[in-house]
Formats: sequence, C-alpha cells, structure tokens
Amino acid sequence: MARYREAVCRLCRREGIELYLKGDRCFTDKCAIKRRGYPPGQHGQRRPKHSDYGVQLREKQKAKRIYGLLERQFRNYFEKADGMKGKTGDNLLVLLESRLDNVVYKLGFSPTRRESRQLVGHGHLKVNGRKVNIPSFLVRPGDVIELKEKSRKIPSLNEALDAVIRKGIPAWLELDRENYRGVVKVLPTRADIKEPIQEQLIVELYSK
Ligand code: SF4
Repeated sequence: MARYREAVCRLCRREGIELYLKGDRCFTDKCAIKRRGYPPGQHGQRRPKHSDYGVQLREKQKAKRIYGLLERQFRNYFEKADGMKGKTGDNLLVLLESRLDNVVYKLGFSPTRRESRQLVGHGHLKVNGRKVNIPSFLVRPGDVIELKEKSRKIPSLNEALDAVIRKGIPAWLELDRENYRGVVKVLPTRADIKEPIQEQLIVELYSK
C-alpha cells in the first residue's frame, strides 16, 4: 500500500493550516505550524503568489493530505463522485468520509487517520462481524464496526477512545465505548463534514 512517508508536519506548513496529523501533539506548543508558520524549504519565507490554478491545486493537496491519500487514489474518488447523482464536490467528501479508516478515526479508535489505517490494515477490526483489513472499505448505513476482543488492551487505543468521549463524535455515528463498537447510523451529508475543504475548488481544478 503506497503512502506518504515524510515528516507530516511539513504538510501542514505547506498548506498553512493545522491538518491534525499527529494526534494530541497537534494541540500542544510543540505543533510545528505554531512554531514555524511558513512553508518548509529554502524559499518558504518568501511571499507566495496565488494564481487561480495555484489556489485550486492547494485545496486539492490539502484534501488529499487530510485523508492521507495519494494522487491516483484521490483522482479515483473524484471520478467516482463525478459519476454519482448530485453535486460532485459533496459526493467526493461523502466518499472520503465513508472510508473505513476515517470512520475508525472519527469513532475514536485511534488519534489520527494514519494510525486508523494501520489498525485496519493489521486486521484489528470487524465490520458486521467479519474481519475487514481494507482501509478504503466504504461503510454503509447500519454497518457495525467493532474492535476485535484481543485488540482491546492496546493502551493508545483506550486513550484515544477516552479523548473522543470528551471531544464528541459526529452525529452520523454512534459509539458504544464499553463494547468497543460503533454504528454508522446514516451516511454523512455535506453539513456533517467539518474538515476545512472548499470542494468546489477541487471540482474546478479537475474539470479544466
Ligand atoms: Fe500539523 Fe499536528 Fe504537526 Fe501541528 S503537530 S504541524 S497540526 S501534524
């Protein structure tokens, strides 16, 4: 499975906003963007020039980075969204949000999407009672996502679950903390998706 392997804080600095890719560290003074709020690299402190294309490109890169996807995977989601009924931008975000690794993250089984992807990939989760180890698996309304019995003692996982209880989970999901189980009540709508993404810019970029 291809994935980005460089320092993830560089991605936040490149996009100029916190993408929350490092869990709890993102909420401390150690956050790289708080300490160096300019793009990485030799020319990072130069004043950036933004063409329309540049703005659209950055928005697409930001969305890719939030969900931890590479270009080909992201493009495939766009094409799928474009073939669906309704607004392409909304469809795109709903597809991204419905990925199993994202749902596992939103339910609080891990502090970051990256760790959720590992959790799924290493076979710690079941969907409707069956093992699913594909992070891109798309959940559907009514799906029950459950942590395997033997995986429930992982300390970082319990810490992440306690943290999500404090922060809250999206209304389209339901968490049964005691039984390490979550339910997809409905698929999210655009209004449920709080990630700072202007999807229309991505649609414009790919529609050129
Ligand atoms: Fe981004 Fe988190 Fe790193 Fe801050 S600590 S730059 S929010 S990944």
